[in-house]
Amino acid sequence: MKVELLELSEDKIKFLLSGVSAAFANGIRRACMSEVPVLAIDEITLYDNTSVLFDEQLGLRIGLVPLQAEDLDTYSQPEDCQCAGEGCPGCRIDFALSAEGPGTVYSRDIKFTDPTVKPAFDSIPLVILGEGEKLVMEGFATKRVGRDHSKWQAGTLCGYKNMPKIVIGKACTGCEKCVEVCPRNILMMDDGKAKARNIEECSLCKLCVEECETGAITVSPILDSFVLAIESCGSMPSKELVSRAPEEIKLRAENLVSKLAELS
Ligand code: SF4
Ligand code: SF4
Ligand SMILES: [Zn+2]
Repeated sequence: MKVELLELSEDKIKFLLSGVSAAFANGIRRACMSEVPVLAIDEITLYDNTSVLFDEQLGLRIGLVPLQAEDLDTYSQPEDCQCAGEGCPGCRIDFALSAEGPGTVYSRDIKFTDPTVKPAFDSIPLVILGEGEKLVMEGFATKRVGRDHSKWQAGTLCGYKNMPKIVIGKACTGCEKCVEVCPRNILMMDDGKAKARNIEECSLCKLCVEECETGAITVSPILDSFVLAIESCGSMPSKELVSRAPEEIKLRAENLVSKLAELS
């Protein structure tokens, strides 16, 4: 297996994974979306809501605010906690939100009892309060995975595709038709012949192949090579998300082995 980093920012990572099966690449993608645990607001108690939004709408909005923790590993998932899911400081982080209009209530107004936990983004608007309108609530966040609910989905846009292979043969006459038709600007002219660049951006649409009258260009997927693009919801850097994904797969595989051993 070979990994080549193509692009890296706080929120997004793109890398080339070679020498693996489609199932393996998809396993990494799926783990980023549904197996890496993050924090999200789980339950709220509303004491006052005279805003224009129904309680349920507010609950949905607040639940979808991505949360960051300085050390996520200090918290357990409720079912793995010493309290066996009853709820304790090891698996719940309490918060309170109190605001009075006029003004906009933002994600930064959610205050956690643990100062190392906070919304990943300060300025997510939650509701606009008119003159005299009030919003008072408290509740708690828990650590779970995207498989439980999309609000715990650490990876938002996670996709993969086969790495394309583009071959331009000697039959190229330099007519430029493939360059004109390519929707991703992958093809260019170089010394009277077509040439490919940024091949990982090719969508394998094969419009260039259809347009080439001499059959000089071929485009095909490399079957054991994949371009993965993973975007984090903001709860953790994209690099950390991708490094946690195989750890989660490993944990599940170890659980499976121990369960099988129990059966034998
Ligand atoms: S369409 Fe075919 S012949 Fe024309 S430039 Fe492209 S590869 Fe060459
Ligand atoms: S397959 Fe599509 S995206 Fe790729 S080079 Fe050809 S026209 Fe461009
Ligand atoms: Zn607990």
